[in-house]
Amino acid sequence: MNIILLGPPGAGKGTQALRLVANHGLIQLSTGDMLRAAVAAGSEVGLKAKAVMEAGQLVSDDIVIGVVSERLDQPDTKNGVIFDGFPRTTAQAEALDKLLAEKGMTLDAVVEMQVDDELLVGRIEKRAAETGGTRADDNAETLKKRLKVYHAETAPLIDYYRGTGKLRTVDGAKSIDDVTSAISGVLA
Ligand code: AMP
Repeated sequence: MNIILLGPPGAGKGTQALRLVANHGLIQLSTGDMLRAAVAAGSEVGLKAKAVMEAGQLVSDDIVIGVVSERLDQPDTKNGVIFDGFPRTTAQAEALDKLLAEKGMTLDAVVEMQVDDELLVGRIEKRAAETGGTRADDNAETLKKRLKVYHAETAPLIDYYRGTGKLRTVDGAKSIDDVTSAISGVLA
């Protein structure tokens, strides 16, 4: 089973992805985690991505698609992948369609985690306080930019995937356990 978790920053995609890993034996493919690792390693990708990420903007499609393509070539992806934070633009969604076809993989479902902006602001501020600023992009100022980018660049993917018949929507404002149950329900 290959699925996409789609939703704004702070919707809880990472949290739910970890639960899907534990409950369904899938692997999590988080482009945010991969890019942060590249920044930490000081690789070429990391050097290109660092300032863009800190500004709350999107890393270029070419870089992100390249990172995902390489990751999908690793054998552990054959049991199923949760795409977390990817795709984030229509160009990335189209590239993913192509990549999956090339690699003989299929997309089973796109789970949209719906959460209002207002709730997200509260959640991200809490996460920033809890992590003590370990994520340079976790602050109120950057969040506003990230939400703007989400609505402009990523939200159109909801209609893109609705058109494929694969979109499943869950209420991401509920408790973590309730959201996990809702996701299991729509994937069953
Ligand atoms: P995330 O951990 O998914 O919230 O991602 C953190 C940051 O990494 C984002 O704000 C972007 O700067 C960058 N990023 C992660 N995934 C992508 C993507 N699919 N396309 C472009 N930039 C991304």
